[in-house]
Amino acid sequence: MTKFVFVTGGVVSSLGKGIAAASLAAILESRGLKVTMIKLDPYINVDPGTMSPFQHGEVFVTEDGAETDLDLGHYERFISAKMHKPNNFTTGQIYESVLRKERHGEYLGKTVQVIPHITNEIQEFILKGVRSAWDGHPDVAVIEIGGTVGDIESLPFVEAIRQLSFRVGRNNTCFMHLTLCPWIASAGELKTKPTQHSVQKLREEGVYPDVLLCRADRPIPESERAKISLFSNVPMDHVISVYDAKTIYEVPLILHRQHLDDIVCAKLGIEAKPADLSRWENIVKHFMDPQGGSVTIAMVGKYVDYADSYKSLNEALIHAGIATDTRVKVKYIDAGDIETHGTDCLKGVDAILVPGGFGKRGVEGMIQAIEYARKNKIPFLGICLGMQCAVIEFARHVCGLGGANSTEFDIDTPHPVVSLITEWHDRSGEVIHRDEASDLGGTMRLGRQECPVKDGTLAHSIYGDHVAERHRHRYEVNNSYVAQFEEKGMVISARTPKDRLPEMMELRDHPFFVGVQFHPEFTSNPREGHPLFKAYVKAAIAQRDRKAAAEKAKA
Ligand code: GLN
Repeated sequence: MTKFVFVTGGVVSSLGKGIAAASLAAILESRGLKVTMIKLDPYINVDPGTMSPFQHGEVFVTEDGAETDLDLGHYERFISAKMHKPNNFTTGQIYESVLRKERHGEYLGKTVQVIPHITNEIQEFILKGVRSAWDGHPDVAVIEIGGTVGDIESLPFVEAIRQLSFRVGRNNTCFMHLTLCPWIASAGELKTKPTQHSVQKLREEGVYPDVLLCRADRPIPESERAKISLFSNVPMDHVISVYDAKTIYEVPLILHRQHLDDIVCAKLGIEAKPADLSRWENIVKHFMDPQGGSVTIAMVGKYVDYADSYKSLNEALIHAGIATDTRVKVKYIDAGDIETHGTDCLKGVDAILVPGGFGKRGVEGMIQAIEYARKNKIPFLGICLGMQCAVIEFARHVCGLGGANSTEFDIDTPHPVVSLITEWHDRSGEVIHRDEASDLGGTMRLGRQECPVKDGTLAHSIYGDHVAERHRHRYEVNNSYVAQFEEKGMVISARTPKDRLPEMMELRDHPFFVGVQFHPEFTSNPREGHPLFKAYVKAAIAQRDRKAAAEKAKA
Protein backbone atom coordinates (compact mmCIF):
# COMPACT_ATOMS: atom_id res chain seq x y z
CA MET A 1 0.00 0.00 0.00
CA THR A 2 0.98 3.63 -0.46
CA LYS A 3 2.75 5.29 2.46
CA PHE A 4 2.35 8.98 3.16
CA VAL A 5 4.83 11.70 4.04
CA PHE A 6 3.12 14.96 4.99
CA VAL A 7 5.25 18.08 4.86
CA THR A 8 4.18 21.17 6.78
CA GLY A 9 5.96 24.47 7.34
CA GLY A 10 6.36 26.77 10.30
CA VAL A 11 7.60 30.21 11.37
CA VAL A 12 7.72 31.89 7.94
CA SER A 13 7.10 31.02 4.31
CA SER A 14 9.72 30.83 1.54
CA LEU A 15 12.02 28.48 3.47
CA GLY A 16 12.19 26.05 0.58
CA LYS A 17 9.61 23.54 1.73
CA GLY A 18 8.98 22.45 -1.85
CA ILE A 19 12.67 21.83 -2.43
CA ALA A 20 13.05 19.94 0.84
CA ALA A 21 10.02 17.78 0.00
CA ALA A 22 11.26 17.17 -3.56
CA SER A 23 14.75 16.35 -2.29
CA LEU A 24 13.40 13.68 0.03
CA ALA A 25 11.36 12.32 -2.88
CA ALA A 26 14.50 12.24 -5.04
CA ILE A 27 16.42 10.23 -2.45
CA LEU A 28 13.52 7.79 -2.05
CA GLU A 29 13.38 7.43 -5.83
CA SER A 30 17.09 6.63 -5.90
CA ARG A 31 16.29 3.82 -3.46
CA GLY A 32 14.11 2.25 -6.11
CA LEU A 33 10.76 3.45 -4.75
CA LYS A 34 7.86 4.70 -6.88
CA VAL A 35 7.26 8.19 -5.57
CA THR A 36 4.62 10.80 -6.33
CA MET A 37 4.10 14.29 -4.93
CA ILE A 38 1.09 16.50 -4.28
CA LYS A 39 0.89 20.19 -3.38
CA LEU A 40 -2.05 21.56 -1.40
CA ASP A 41 -2.51 25.32 -1.61
CA PRO A 42 -4.70 26.90 1.06
CA TYR A 43 -5.54 30.05 -0.92
CA ILE A 44 -9.01 30.64 -2.40
CA ASN A 45 -8.06 31.09 -6.08
CA VAL A 46 -9.15 28.07 -8.07
CA ASP A 47 -5.67 27.87 -9.58
CA PRO A 48 -2.70 30.24 -9.84
CA GLY A 49 -3.43 30.82 -13.55
CA THR A 50 -4.73 34.36 -13.08
CA MET A 51 -2.38 35.38 -10.27
CA SER A 52 0.35 37.93 -10.93
CA PRO A 53 3.85 36.49 -11.33
CA PHE A 54 4.96 39.27 -8.95
CA GLN A 55 2.75 37.84 -6.22
CA HIS A 56 2.96 34.17 -6.69
CA GLY A 57 5.95 33.54 -8.91
CA GLU A 58 5.74 31.48 -12.04
CA VAL A 59 2.71 29.46 -13.06
CA PHE A 60 3.93 25.96 -13.81
CA VAL A 61 2.11 24.18 -16.64
CA THR A 62 1.74 20.41 -16.56
CA GLU A 63 1.57 18.07 -19.58
CA ASP A 64 -2.19 17.89 -19.29
CA GLY A 65 -2.47 21.66 -19.26
CA ALA A 66 -3.07 22.42 -15.58
CA GLU A 67 -1.84 25.81 -14.40
CA THR A 68 -0.23 24.95 -11.10
CA ASP A 69 2.00 26.11 -8.30
CA LEU A 70 5.66 26.53 -9.13
CA ASP A 71 6.54 23.84 -6.60
CA LEU A 72 5.30 21.28 -9.13
CA GLY A 73 8.17 22.44 -11.31
CA HIS A 74 10.60 21.52 -8.53
CA TYR A 75 8.91 18.15 -8.20
CA GLU A 76 9.39 17.39 -11.90
CA ARG A 77 12.99 18.58 -11.79
CA PHE A 78 13.79 16.34 -8.79
CA ILE A 79 11.85 13.16 -9.55
CA SER A 80 10.98 11.32 -12.73
CA ALA A 81 7.19 11.13 -12.21
CA LYS A 82 5.26 13.64 -14.29
CA MET A 83 2.82 15.90 -12.49
CA HIS A 84 -0.78 16.31 -13.66
CA LYS A 85 -3.92 18.22 -12.69
CA PRO A 86 -4.66 16.12 -9.57
CA ASN A 87 -1.17 16.81 -8.17
CA ASN A 88 -2.07 20.34 -7.08
CA PHE A 89 -5.27 21.71 -5.60
CA THR A 90 -6.44 24.77 -3.71
CA THR A 91 -9.08 25.73 -1.16
CA GLY A 92 -10.93 27.28 -4.11
CA GLN A 93 -11.20 23.90 -5.84
CA ILE A 94 -12.28 22.16 -2.64
CA TYR A 95 -15.08 24.66 -2.01
CA GLU A 96 -16.08 24.63 -5.68
CA SER A 97 -16.49 20.87 -5.51
CA VAL A 98 -18.31 20.88 -2.16
CA LEU A 99 -20.69 23.63 -3.32
CA ARG A 100 -21.46 21.72 -6.51
CA LYS A 101 -22.34 18.65 -4.46
CA GLU A 102 -24.45 20.76 -2.10
CA ARG A 103 -26.45 22.15 -5.04
CA HIS A 104 -26.98 18.60 -6.33
CA GLY A 105 -28.41 17.67 -2.96
CA GLU A 106 -25.65 15.16 -2.30
CA TYR A 107 -25.45 16.03 1.39
CA LEU A 108 -29.05 14.91 1.94
CA GLY A 109 -30.21 18.00 3.75
CA LYS A 110 -27.36 18.04 6.26
CA THR A 111 -25.66 21.25 7.35
CA VAL A 112 -22.51 21.46 5.25
CA GLN A 113 -19.52 22.27 7.47
CA VAL A 114 -15.75 22.63 7.41
CA ILE A 115 -15.51 19.48 9.48
CA PRO A 116 -16.36 16.95 8.12
CA HIS A 117 -17.35 18.08 4.63
CA ILE A 118 -14.41 20.28 3.66
CA THR A 119 -11.89 18.07 5.43
CA ASN A 120 -13.37 14.94 3.80
CA GLU A 121 -13.17 16.60 0.42
CA ILE A 122 -9.51 17.47 1.01
CA GLN A 123 -8.80 13.82 1.84
CA GLU A 124 -10.61 12.66 -1.29
CA PHE A 125 -8.58 15.09 -3.41
CA ILE A 126 -5.36 13.81 -1.84
CA LEU A 127 -6.31 10.20 -2.50
CA LYS A 128 -7.34 11.04 -6.07
CA GLY A 129 -3.93 12.67 -6.58
CA VAL A 130 -2.14 9.64 -5.15
CA ARG A 131 -4.10 7.23 -7.34
CA SER A 132 -3.36 9.25 -10.48
CA ALA A 133 0.31 8.16 -10.42
CA TRP A 134 2.06 4.81 -10.97
CA ASP A 135 -1.16 3.01 -12.03
CA GLY A 136 -2.71 3.91 -8.72
CA HIS A 137 0.02 2.29 -6.64
CA PRO A 138 2.91 4.56 -5.74
CA ASP A 139 5.06 3.30 -2.87
CA VAL A 140 5.30 6.73 -1.29
CA ALA A 141 3.28 9.94 -1.71
CA VAL A 142 4.95 13.10 -0.45
CA ILE A 143 2.22 15.64 0.29
CA GLU A 144 3.20 19.25 0.83
CA ILE A 145 0.85 21.67 2.59
CA GLY A 146 1.38 25.24 1.41
CA GLY A 147 1.52 28.17 3.81
CA THR A 148 2.55 28.15 7.45
CA VAL A 149 1.09 26.33 10.42
CA GLY A 150 -1.06 28.71 12.43
CA ASP A 151 -2.58 30.40 9.37
CA ILE A 152 -6.35 30.39 9.57
CA GLU A 153 -6.67 29.21 5.97
CA SER A 154 -4.39 26.21 6.38
CA LEU A 155 -6.25 24.83 9.44
CA PRO A 156 -8.67 22.60 7.49
CA PHE A 157 -5.72 21.13 5.61
CA VAL A 158 -3.81 20.27 8.77
CA GLU A 159 -6.98 18.77 10.22
CA ALA A 160 -7.52 16.76 7.03
CA ILE A 161 -4.03 15.23 7.09
CA ARG A 162 -4.46 14.44 10.79
CA GLN A 163 -7.67 12.55 9.97
CA LEU A 164 -6.11 10.89 6.95
CA SER A 165 -3.16 9.62 8.98
CA PHE A 166 -5.66 8.11 11.42
CA ARG A 167 -7.49 6.49 8.52
CA VAL A 168 -4.46 4.95 6.80
CA GLY A 169 -2.70 4.14 10.07
CA ARG A 170 -0.07 6.07 11.95
CA ASN A 171 2.54 3.46 10.89
CA ASN A 172 1.94 4.36 7.29
CA THR A 173 2.37 8.08 7.86
CA CYS A 174 5.34 10.31 8.49
CA PHE A 175 4.90 13.95 9.49
CA MET A 176 7.78 16.18 8.53
CA HIS A 177 7.82 19.81 9.67
CA LEU A 178 10.11 22.48 8.23
CA THR A 179 11.01 25.44 10.44
CA LEU A 180 13.50 28.25 10.75
CA CYS A 181 16.32 28.80 13.24
CA PRO A 182 17.32 32.43 12.71
CA TRP A 183 20.88 33.58 13.35
CA ILE A 184 20.91 36.58 15.68
CA ALA A 185 24.11 38.41 14.85
CA SER A 186 24.23 40.62 17.95
CA ALA A 187 23.96 37.58 20.21
CA GLY A 188 26.06 35.38 17.93
CA GLU A 189 23.47 32.63 18.31
CA LEU A 190 21.09 30.48 16.35
CA LYS A 191 17.69 30.74 17.97
CA THR A 192 15.48 27.70 18.49
CA LYS A 193 12.48 29.43 20.08
CA PRO A 194 10.53 30.01 16.83
CA THR A 195 10.90 26.28 16.10
CA GLN A 196 9.67 25.36 19.58
CA HIS A 197 6.60 27.57 19.13
CA SER A 198 5.90 26.31 15.68
CA VAL A 199 5.96 22.68 16.85
CA GLN A 200 3.70 23.59 19.75
CA LYS A 201 1.25 25.15 17.31
CA LEU A 202 1.33 22.06 15.11
CA ARG A 203 0.68 19.83 18.11
CA GLU A 204 -2.22 22.05 19.19
CA GLU A 205 -3.68 21.31 15.78
CA GLY A 206 -3.30 17.58 16.44
CA VAL A 207 -0.22 16.75 14.42
CA TYR A 208 2.88 15.35 16.15
CA PRO A 209 5.90 15.68 13.89
CA ASP A 210 8.19 12.68 13.38
CA VAL A 211 10.99 14.68 11.77
CA LEU A 212 12.00 18.32 11.96
CA LEU A 213 13.90 19.98 9.15
CA CYS A 214 15.45 23.10 10.61
CA ARG A 215 16.45 25.75 8.10
CA ALA A 216 19.32 28.04 9.00
CA ASP A 217 21.98 29.95 7.16
CA ARG A 218 24.59 27.64 8.73
CA PRO A 219 24.80 24.11 10.18
CA ILE A 220 22.92 23.82 13.49
CA PRO A 221 25.19 22.71 16.36
CA GLU A 222 24.42 19.61 18.36
CA SER A 223 23.60 21.61 21.49
CA GLU A 224 20.81 23.48 19.69
CA ARG A 225 19.48 20.31 18.09
CA ALA A 226 19.36 18.74 21.55
CA LYS A 227 17.37 21.70 22.81
CA ILE A 228 14.90 21.44 19.93
CA SER A 229 14.59 17.72 20.51
CA LEU A 230 13.82 18.19 24.20
CA PHE A 231 11.13 20.80 23.63
CA SER A 232 9.48 19.14 20.67
CA ASN A 233 9.54 15.47 21.63
CA VAL A 234 11.34 14.60 18.42
CA PRO A 235 14.43 12.36 18.81
CA MET A 236 17.63 14.29 18.33
CA ASP A 237 18.76 12.43 15.22
CA HIS A 238 15.37 13.28 13.67
CA VAL A 239 16.18 16.99 14.03
CA ILE A 240 17.88 17.67 10.72
CA SER A 241 20.01 20.68 9.99
CA VAL A 242 19.12 22.12 6.58
CA TYR A 243 21.67 24.86 6.09
CA ASP A 244 21.91 27.12 3.05
CA ALA A 245 23.17 25.09 0.11
CA LYS A 246 25.35 26.23 -2.77
CA THR A 247 22.66 25.02 -5.13
CA ILE A 248 19.22 23.54 -4.53
CA TYR A 249 20.51 20.34 -6.16
CA GLU A 250 22.79 19.83 -3.18
CA VAL A 251 19.83 19.48 -0.80
CA PRO A 252 19.27 15.73 -1.47
CA LEU A 253 22.93 15.19 -0.49
CA ILE A 254 22.62 17.29 2.69
CA LEU A 255 19.49 15.41 3.77
CA HIS A 256 20.90 11.99 2.95
CA ARG A 257 24.09 12.65 4.92
CA GLN A 258 21.88 13.09 7.98
CA HIS A 259 20.02 9.85 7.16
CA LEU A 260 16.64 11.45 6.48
CA ASP A 261 15.71 8.68 4.03
CA ASP A 262 16.56 5.95 6.57
CA ILE A 263 14.50 7.72 9.22
CA VAL A 264 11.51 8.05 6.89
CA CYS A 265 11.78 4.45 5.63
CA ALA A 266 12.03 3.14 9.20
CA LYS A 267 8.99 5.19 10.23
CA LEU A 268 6.98 3.89 7.29
CA GLY A 269 8.21 0.31 7.57
CA ILE A 270 9.72 0.39 4.08
CA GLU A 271 12.62 -1.82 3.09
CA ALA A 272 14.49 -0.47 0.11
CA LYS A 273 17.94 -0.70 -1.40
CA PRO A 274 20.48 1.94 -0.34
CA ALA A 275 20.33 5.37 -1.95
CA ASP A 276 22.48 6.10 -4.99
CA LEU A 277 22.94 9.84 -5.27
CA SER A 278 25.81 9.81 -7.76
CA ARG A 279 23.81 11.75 -10.35
CA TRP A 280 23.16 14.51 -7.79
CA GLU A 281 26.84 14.57 -6.84
CA ASN A 282 27.67 14.93 -10.50
CA ILE A 283 25.20 17.79 -10.96
CA VAL A 284 26.64 19.67 -7.98
CA LYS A 285 30.19 19.10 -9.20
CA HIS A 286 29.52 20.53 -12.67
CA PHE A 287 27.52 23.41 -11.21
CA MET A 288 30.20 24.36 -8.70
CA ASP A 289 33.25 23.94 -10.85
CA PRO A 290 32.53 24.17 -14.59
CA GLN A 291 35.59 23.68 -16.79
CA GLY A 292 34.31 25.67 -19.77
CA GLY A 293 34.36 29.22 -18.40
CA SER A 294 31.24 31.36 -18.38
CA VAL A 295 28.78 33.07 -20.71
CA THR A 296 26.48 36.02 -20.05
CA ILE A 297 22.90 35.93 -21.26
CA ALA A 298 20.73 39.05 -21.16
CA MET A 299 17.16 38.22 -20.19
CA VAL A 300 14.91 41.06 -21.31
CA GLY A 301 11.58 40.66 -19.59
CA LYS A 302 8.97 42.42 -17.53
CA TYR A 303 9.01 40.51 -14.27
CA VAL A 304 12.80 40.59 -13.85
CA ASP A 305 12.73 42.11 -10.35
CA TYR A 306 11.16 39.03 -8.90
CA ALA A 307 13.34 35.96 -9.37
CA ASP A 308 10.56 33.41 -8.86
CA SER A 309 8.55 34.65 -11.82
CA TYR A 310 10.96 32.96 -14.28
CA LYS A 311 11.74 29.99 -12.02
CA SER A 312 11.71 27.19 -14.59
CA LEU A 313 13.52 29.33 -17.14
CA ASN A 314 16.32 30.18 -14.71
CA GLU A 315 16.63 26.52 -13.81
CA ALA A 316 16.65 25.45 -17.48
CA LEU A 317 19.59 27.81 -18.11
CA ILE A 318 21.40 26.40 -15.07
CA HIS A 319 20.75 22.85 -16.35
CA ALA A 320 22.13 23.76 -19.78
CA GLY A 321 25.21 25.18 -18.05
CA ILE A 322 25.69 21.97 -16.08
CA ALA A 323 25.34 19.89 -19.25
CA THR A 324 27.82 22.05 -21.21
CA ASP A 325 30.20 22.49 -18.26
CA THR A 326 29.79 26.27 -18.44
CA ARG A 327 28.69 28.84 -15.89
CA VAL A 328 25.64 30.65 -17.29
CA LYS A 329 25.37 34.14 -15.88
CA VAL A 330 22.05 35.87 -16.42
CA LYS A 331 21.87 39.64 -16.70
CA TYR A 332 18.28 40.59 -15.95
CA ILE A 333 17.12 43.63 -17.89
CA ASP A 334 13.76 45.30 -17.43
CA ALA A 335 12.33 45.72 -20.92
CA GLY A 336 11.00 49.11 -19.81
CA ASP A 337 14.58 50.31 -19.22
CA ILE A 338 15.45 49.61 -22.85
CA GLU A 339 12.46 51.75 -23.87
CA THR A 340 13.87 54.69 -21.88
CA HIS A 341 17.63 54.19 -22.17
CA GLY A 342 18.12 52.18 -25.38
CA THR A 343 20.08 49.00 -26.01
CA ASP A 344 23.47 49.99 -24.58
CA CYS A 345 22.93 47.58 -21.71
CA LEU A 346 23.09 44.72 -24.24
CA LYS A 347 26.63 45.51 -25.35
CA GLY A 348 29.02 42.64 -24.78
CA VAL A 349 26.48 39.99 -23.79
CA ASP A 350 26.89 36.57 -25.39
CA ALA A 351 23.21 35.92 -26.04
CA ILE A 352 19.79 37.53 -25.61
CA LEU A 353 16.63 35.90 -24.33
CA VAL A 354 13.10 37.29 -24.35
CA PRO A 355 10.84 35.18 -22.13
CA GLY A 356 7.05 34.82 -21.98
CA GLY A 357 4.70 37.40 -20.55
CA PHE A 358 1.28 38.98 -20.71
CA GLY A 359 0.17 42.54 -21.40
CA LYS A 360 1.59 45.51 -23.25
CA ARG A 361 4.10 46.91 -20.76
CA GLY A 362 7.69 46.46 -21.90
CA VAL A 363 6.87 44.98 -25.29
CA GLU A 364 8.50 47.80 -27.31
CA GLY A 365 11.70 47.35 -25.28
CA MET A 366 11.69 43.64 -26.06
CA ILE A 367 11.26 44.43 -29.76
CA GLN A 368 14.27 46.78 -29.61
CA ALA A 369 16.36 44.08 -27.93
CA ILE A 370 15.37 41.60 -30.63
CA GLU A 371 16.26 44.04 -33.40
CA TYR A 372 19.66 44.44 -31.74
CA ALA A 373 20.15 40.65 -31.59
CA ARG A 374 19.10 40.18 -35.20
CA LYS A 375 21.27 42.96 -36.64
CA ASN A 376 24.35 42.21 -34.53
CA LYS A 377 24.04 38.47 -35.05
CA ILE A 378 23.87 37.72 -31.34
CA PRO A 379 22.31 34.36 -30.44
CA PHE A 380 18.64 34.91 -29.65
CA LEU A 381 15.96 32.77 -28.06
CA GLY A 382 12.37 34.04 -27.88
CA ILE A 383 9.91 32.11 -25.78
CA CYS A 384 6.16 32.51 -26.36
CA LEU A 385 5.76 36.30 -26.06
CA GLY A 386 9.44 36.42 -27.06
CA MET A 387 8.68 34.66 -30.35
CA GLN A 388 5.63 36.87 -30.93
CA CYS A 389 7.82 39.96 -30.45
CA ALA A 390 10.41 38.52 -32.85
CA VAL A 391 7.70 38.15 -35.48
CA ILE A 392 6.49 41.73 -34.89
CA GLU A 393 10.06 43.03 -35.16
CA PHE A 394 10.64 41.12 -38.40
CA ALA A 395 7.34 42.32 -39.87
CA ARG A 396 8.11 45.95 -39.08
CA HIS A 397 11.79 46.15 -39.92
CA VAL A 398 12.41 43.48 -42.54
CA CYS A 399 9.05 43.26 -44.32
CA GLY A 400 8.29 46.98 -44.01
CA LEU A 401 4.89 46.40 -42.40
CA GLY A 402 4.74 49.64 -40.39
CA GLY A 403 2.70 49.49 -37.21
CA ALA A 404 2.66 45.68 -37.24
CA ASN A 405 1.66 44.37 -33.83
CA SER A 406 -0.18 41.77 -31.83
CA THR A 407 -3.84 42.49 -31.27
CA GLU A 408 -3.09 41.88 -27.59
CA PHE A 409 -1.24 45.22 -27.55
CA ASP A 410 -2.95 47.17 -30.34
CA ILE A 411 -6.39 46.04 -31.32
CA ASP A 412 -6.44 48.49 -34.27
CA THR A 413 -3.04 47.59 -35.73
CA PRO A 414 -2.96 47.77 -39.57
CA HIS A 415 -0.95 44.51 -39.57
CA PRO A 416 -2.13 42.02 -36.94
CA VAL A 417 0.83 39.68 -37.39
CA VAL A 418 0.01 38.07 -34.04
CA SER A 419 -3.67 37.68 -33.30
CA LEU A 420 -6.35 35.75 -31.55
CA ILE A 421 -7.67 32.82 -33.46
CA THR A 422 -11.24 32.09 -32.62
CA GLU A 423 -11.37 28.41 -33.32
CA TRP A 424 -8.74 25.74 -32.84
CA HIS A 425 -8.19 22.16 -31.71
CA ASP A 426 -6.93 21.50 -28.21
CA ARG A 427 -4.57 18.68 -27.24
CA SER A 428 -7.38 16.12 -27.20
CA GLY A 429 -8.55 17.17 -30.68
CA GLU A 430 -11.65 18.98 -29.43
CA VAL A 431 -12.61 22.26 -31.18
CA ILE A 432 -12.26 25.26 -28.85
CA HIS A 433 -13.84 28.67 -29.41
CA ARG A 434 -12.67 31.92 -27.89
CA ASP A 435 -12.78 35.67 -28.50
CA GLU A 436 -11.55 38.91 -26.89
CA ALA A 437 -14.37 38.66 -24.33
CA SER A 438 -13.63 35.09 -23.20
CA ASP A 439 -12.76 34.49 -19.56
CA LEU A 440 -9.09 34.99 -18.79
CA GLY A 441 -8.83 31.79 -16.79
CA GLY A 442 -9.14 28.66 -18.86
CA THR A 443 -9.25 30.01 -22.43
CA MET A 444 -5.66 29.50 -23.35
CA ARG A 445 -3.84 26.95 -25.44
CA LEU A 446 -2.49 24.94 -22.56
CA GLY A 447 -0.41 21.84 -22.06
CA ARG A 448 1.66 19.49 -24.13
CA GLN A 449 1.18 19.34 -27.88
CA GLU A 450 3.22 17.43 -30.39
CA CYS A 451 4.04 18.49 -33.93
CA PRO A 452 6.43 17.62 -36.75
CA VAL A 453 9.63 19.63 -37.31
CA LYS A 454 10.73 20.70 -40.77
CA ASP A 455 13.72 18.86 -42.18
CA GLY A 456 16.93 20.77 -42.73
CA THR A 457 16.22 23.44 -40.11
CA LEU A 458 18.13 24.40 -36.98
CA ALA A 459 15.04 23.27 -35.07
CA HIS A 460 15.37 19.83 -36.66
CA SER A 461 19.02 19.55 -35.65
CA ILE A 462 17.90 20.25 -32.06
CA TYR A 463 14.64 18.31 -31.74
CA GLY A 464 14.72 15.76 -34.54
CA ASP A 465 11.49 14.90 -36.37
CA HIS A 466 9.05 15.86 -33.63
CA VAL A 467 8.69 18.45 -30.90
CA ALA A 468 6.35 17.98 -27.93
CA GLU A 469 6.34 20.89 -25.53
CA ARG A 470 3.90 22.69 -23.24
CA HIS A 471 1.90 25.78 -24.09
CA ARG A 472 0.36 28.65 -22.19
CA HIS A 473 -0.85 31.46 -24.41
CA ARG A 474 -3.86 32.95 -26.10
CA TYR A 475 -2.44 34.61 -29.23
CA GLU A 476 -0.85 33.00 -32.30
CA VAL A 477 1.32 34.07 -35.22
CA ASN A 478 -1.10 35.08 -37.98
CA ASN A 479 -0.79 32.56 -40.79
CA SER A 480 -1.88 35.02 -43.47
CA TYR A 481 1.46 36.82 -43.14
CA VAL A 482 3.68 33.76 -43.14
CA ALA A 483 4.31 33.72 -46.93
CA GLN A 484 5.62 37.30 -46.73
CA PHE A 485 7.87 36.41 -43.81
CA GLU A 486 9.26 33.36 -45.56
CA GLU A 487 10.04 35.33 -48.67
CA LYS A 488 12.26 37.59 -46.54
CA GLY A 489 14.21 34.80 -44.90
CA MET A 490 12.19 33.65 -41.92
CA VAL A 491 11.73 29.90 -41.64
CA ILE A 492 8.71 28.47 -39.89
CA SER A 493 10.36 25.31 -38.66
CA ALA A 494 7.41 23.65 -36.92
CA ARG A 495 3.62 23.93 -37.25
CA THR A 496 0.72 22.17 -35.55
CA PRO A 497 -0.57 19.43 -37.85
CA LYS A 498 -4.30 20.31 -37.79
CA ASP A 499 -4.47 24.08 -37.54
CA ARG A 500 -1.05 24.82 -39.09
CA LEU A 501 -0.24 27.17 -36.21
CA PRO A 502 3.42 28.29 -36.30
CA GLU A 503 5.19 26.65 -33.33
CA MET A 504 8.82 27.48 -34.09
CA MET A 505 10.56 30.07 -36.24
CA GLU A 506 14.18 30.77 -37.09
CA LEU A 507 16.19 33.11 -39.30
CA ARG A 508 18.58 32.13 -42.01
CA ASP A 509 21.84 34.11 -42.14
CA HIS A 510 22.09 34.28 -38.39
CA PRO A 511 24.17 32.03 -36.10
CA PHE A 512 21.22 31.27 -33.78
CA PHE A 513 17.89 33.05 -33.93
CA VAL A 514 15.04 30.87 -32.66
CA GLY A 515 11.52 31.67 -31.51
CA VAL A 516 9.21 29.11 -29.95
CA GLN A 517 5.52 29.49 -29.23
CA PHE A 518 5.73 26.94 -26.40
CA HIS A 519 7.59 26.94 -23.09
CA PRO A 520 10.55 24.54 -23.33
CA GLU A 521 11.65 25.48 -19.79
CA PHE A 522 8.91 23.32 -18.25
CA THR A 523 10.51 20.10 -19.45
CA SER A 524 14.12 20.76 -18.53
CA ASN A 525 15.74 18.76 -15.74
CA PRO A 526 19.18 18.99 -14.14
CA ARG A 527 20.09 15.40 -14.99
CA GLU A 528 20.19 15.76 -18.79
CA GLY A 529 19.55 19.41 -19.53
CA HIS A 530 17.16 20.43 -22.32
CA PRO A 531 18.17 20.12 -26.01
CA LEU A 532 17.02 23.62 -26.97
CA PHE A 533 18.69 25.34 -24.01
CA LYS A 534 21.84 23.31 -24.50
CA ALA A 535 21.98 24.37 -28.17
CA TYR A 536 21.34 27.97 -27.15
CA VAL A 537 24.09 27.97 -24.50
CA LYS A 538 26.47 26.38 -27.02
CA ALA A 539 25.62 29.22 -29.43
CA ALA A 540 26.42 31.71 -26.62
CA ILE A 541 29.76 29.95 -26.05
CA ALA A 542 30.53 30.21 -29.79
CA GLN A 543 29.62 33.91 -29.73
CA ARG A 544 31.90 34.49 -26.72
CA ASP A 545 34.77 32.70 -28.49
CA ARG A 546 34.17 34.64 -31.74
CA LYS A 547 34.29 37.89 -29.78
CA ALA A 548 37.51 36.87 -28.03
CA ALA A 549 39.13 35.85 -31.34
CA ALA A 550 38.15 39.16 -32.94
CA GLU A 551 39.62 41.11 -30.02
CA LYS A 552 42.82 39.09 -30.20
CA ALA A 553 43.10 39.77 -33.92
CA LYS A 554 42.66 43.49 -33.24
CA ALA A 555 45.38 43.56 -30.56
N1 GLN B 1 0.65 37.16 -24.08
C1 GLN B 1 0.92 36.21 -25.10
C2 GLN B 1 -0.29 35.34 -25.39
O1 GLN B 1 -1.20 35.24 -24.61
C3 GLN B 1 2.12 35.35 -24.74
C4 GLN B 1 1.91 34.49 -23.54
C5 GLN B 1 3.18 33.90 -22.99
O2 GLN B 1 4.27 34.39 -23.24
N2 GLN B 1 3.06 32.88 -22.18
O3 GLN B 1 -0.36 34.70 -26.41
